[in-house]
Amino acid sequence: MKNKLILAIDGPAAAGKSTVAKLVAKKLNITYIDTGAMYRAFTLFVMQKGIDPQHQSACEALIPQVKILLAPTGEVYLNGIDVSKDIRDPKVSAQVSYIASYKAIRLALVDLQRHMAGNQSVVMDGRDIGTYVLPEANIKIFQIASVETRAVRRYEENLSKGIACTLESVEEDLRHRDYIDSHRDFAPLKPANDSILIDTSFMSVQEVVERILEIVHKKVGLIHA
Ligand code: C5P
Repeated sequence: MKNKLILAIDGPAAAGKSTVAKLVAKKLNITYIDTGAMYRAFTLFVMQKGIDPQHQSACEALIPQVKILLAPTGEVYLNGIDVSKDIRDPKVSAQVSYIASYKAIRLALVDLQRHMAGNQSVVMDGRDIGTYVLPEANIKIFQIASVETRAVRRYEENLSKGIACTLESVEEDLRHRDYIDSHRDFAPLKPANDSILIDTSFMSVQEVVERILEIVHKKVGLIHA
């Protein structure tokens, strides 16, 4: 690949960002970075320590103790332990947006995200990638879907992974997280001015992937499809 490609995919919870981002990265043969997994891993650590996730200074004091690693094969490691499944627990989902609203924690994780992106081509998904983490991204996608659609998708995904939940509790969690994520002071969830909006409510995963690849090929002229 001649040019470095930075593809940022932001949007609300369960809009299908990570599913799509993974497939796009695979198709383009570049690295995928799931930033939500990092906030989730930090939250898991806070909970393991028995600290109240709404106690900002106590949570921020843990920063030096947290080492997060995203393996190229997709696993998430917290201080050397594979927590890929634990971080998807609804108990973690219910608290993660508090942790993600604390500036010192965001700064530490953003540092790690920028370091991971380094000098390579990446697809990075999250809430503030196009606006704050990698504002220089060549392509910024803001992926949305109705909250009802997102709730059904996440509910079915949870069931397939053996994660116990109800449709109502999933929808409530999504609304709660979106509210906190879009109302925090520092690097909130919002589309970058130069982002391309994709409403996936009536699109299949494959259609979204194809649409993004089309955008990539048009904009950067990379023929990897
Ligand atoms: O992407 P995912 O839904 O797994 O992210 C979990 C949570 O992490 C989000 O609800 C949000 O609070 C936080 N997050 C964030 N900024 C990012 C990625 C995730 O604040 N770049």
